[in-house]
Amino acid sequence: MKKRERTSKCPPQVWWKRLGGEYLLTNDAGEYIMLSPGEFRVFTGTGALPASGRKLLEMEEKGFLRERLDFESLSRRWKESNAYLDRGPGLHIFVLTLRCNHKCLYCQSGALREDEKRSDMDIRTARKILDFALGAPVKGLTIEFQGGEPLLNWEVLKETVLYGEKKAKASGKEIKFALVSNFSLMTKEKADFLIKHGVALCTSLDGPASLHDRNRIFAGGGSHALAVKWIKYFTGVCGKGSDCGPSALLTISKYSLGREKEIVEEYARLGLASIFVRPLVPIGFAGDLWDKIGCSPEEFTGFYKNSLGHVLRLNKKGLDLKEKTAFLLIKKAIGMEDNKYVDLRCPCGAGLGQLAYDFNGDVYTCDEGRMLAWQGDSLFKAGNVFEDAYLDVISSGAVKACAAASSLDSQPMCARCVWRPYCGICPVYNYQTQGSLWGDMPGNGRCRILKGIFETVFGFLKDTKTKEVFRKWLNS
Ligand code: SF4
Ligand code: SF4
Repeated sequence: MKKRERTSKCPPQVWWKRLGGEYLLTNDAGEYIMLSPGEFRVFTGTGALPASGRKLLEMEEKGFLRERLDFESLSRRWKESNAYLDRGPGLHIFVLTLRCNHKCLYCQSGALREDEKRSDMDIRTARKILDFALGAPVKGLTIEFQGGEPLLNWEVLKETVLYGEKKAKASGKEIKFALVSNFSLMTKEKADFLIKHGVALCTSLDGPASLHDRNRIFAGGGSHALAVKWIKYFTGVCGKGSDCGPSALLTISKYSLGREKEIVEEYARLGLASIFVRPLVPIGFAGDLWDKIGCSPEEFTGFYKNSLGHVLRLNKKGLDLKEKTAFLLIKKAIGMEDNKYVDLRCPCGAGLGQLAYDFNGDVYTCDEGRMLAWQGDSLFKAGNVFEDAYLDVISSGAVKACAAASSLDSQPMCARCVWRPYCGICPVYNYQTQGSLWGDMPGNGRCRILKGIFETVFGFLKDTKTKEVFRKWLNS
């Protein structure tokens, strides 16, 4: 067969890096391909590509051959995986109170004591915020109750759900509710209400009791025992993976290092559908204790690799447990879908994907921005629901500045990075750790962590059996 000679075959936006013994290439559409060193030399140099073959077909289908680009299909795929650009903020975080009955070592929100009621949101403010959130040009929105411990302001939570249901009917919009709670104040009556109204439930679980209770200090008894009691209750009543399922958040501190297997197995033992291996970040009050409890990017990356490795081993033995960061990444890279995750997109979700509301109606670009305000710096404040209209908030300096700073094309290092199609920058993290919204990627800890995570996931992708597990996650 006659070989076709081509020179400089790269379409305008292709990024690459050496990964293991191969080359990983990604492109604007969010597609990726692995090439052997020989294939890579041919691709980037003046050599000849074979006229047929599986690799050539894959390169063509994924938009890596400049002379054979199917723009219609590529732009459709790009649109699907970046669908968030057409929407407004769908996530609205209500901080119902800053009070908490726990004293977690890494608490980022700067919780107040249980008896300091000055930070409780009242129902008038909650209703006003809900009306404000309905002004966002989205068909469906999620109202997420956070704190402190939101169950300490139960009456307002309950009233907001009932009010929201009425407003959803009247406006024709869909409103979903979610609760992030330590579950220590859960009762059967509250549980029945939450289940009846379809509130998605999420708690914290840092691993087995010895680790969880060390991180999450609770004077009223074992924090772990109460979290586990209600995880089992909700899983039993609602079923694994359903909205009230529930899910759990894992925070990795220095004390978690070396305990990857135990942590993953605790999630498996409790029948949770997923584990979200997230690093602790030095934002808010966690920054003050960083030397004691923080991990270096390399320590976290090693932890992540071991955890994901164990999750995958268990999956290959038949267990159904997803690791959420890997899942979000493969949803984009293999599923070519918008993963709806506000922290890994360009521009990031600050104001464009989410808004956070303090107990007094102040609006912030996100909850992390609100935490800084509680420490005295209101740079990320976008307005107040009693004083500003939706359009004023969404076009505020805070939202615009975050959008500009998190645009990867204006970051010199990101604009040339192979992970660009899957990555996102956090202006709050940059500001807190490097003193500017733009940050400085070569020395940025979050960037180092993300690179470590991406390399780990793509490294695992080379194994056919792991790829099958990932495909199963996408189809479930
Ligand atoms: S933040 Fe780091 S990993 Fe992400 S695109 Fe920028 S340089 Fe790449
Ligand atoms: S600023 Fe950071 S925390 Fe806030 S939405 Fe953007 S990525 Fe998320």
